[in-house]
Amino acid sequence: MFQKLFHWIVGKPQPPHYQLGNSQSCIFCRAYSTNRSDFDIVWEDEVFVAFRDIRPSAQDHIQLIPKTHIDSIKKLSQKDVNMLRRMEEIGHSILDTYNVPVSKRKMGFHIPPFNSIHHLHLHVQSLPYISPVHRLKYPFVRGFGGYEKGFSWFAEIGQAIRILEKGHRVTVAPC
Ligand SMILES: [Zn+2]
Ligand SMILES: [Zn+2]
Repeated sequence: MFQKLFHWIVGKPQPPHYQLGNSQSCIFCRAYSTNRSDFDIVWEDEVFVAFRDIRPSAQDHIQLIPKTHIDSIKKLSQKDVNMLRRMEEIGHSILDTYNVPVSKRKMGFHIPPFNSIHHLHLHVQSLPYISPVHRLKYPFVRGFGGYEKGFSWFAEIGQAIRILEKGHRVTVAPC
């Protein structure tokens, strides 16, 4: 993993119009602005880019990220609900192109400190996972009482949207 990330970082600078990331300390921003061709990009517009995960946990495993640097899901608040709705929509349209049935789709975010890369990324996946160990990385834990989500290091996109709509923040603890 780290060797591959290292290869993302090194390499020839690209023309200025490829310099889309805006955080020098972020591995995604730096890699994306200096060595974009190393990403297996499957979808892109002005605001978001989607690429295949270099170590997929499922047959289809895409990372969908905003081009503007945002640390993580923890930074989002109610004003970001529309952004997440848009990411959900894009995720579905990507999985549509792979003919993944709706019942086999999973999308969500890791919650710090359990995120590997500190740049907001939506995991867009087709089930099943390639192993039970991989499945453990993306637990869907239902909420109880007034909570949308129980204790877990992963928030499914619908959970994240509902939590933010209520004016709350997405955390590892029930929220
Ligand atoms: Zn970044
Ligand atoms: Zn993640």
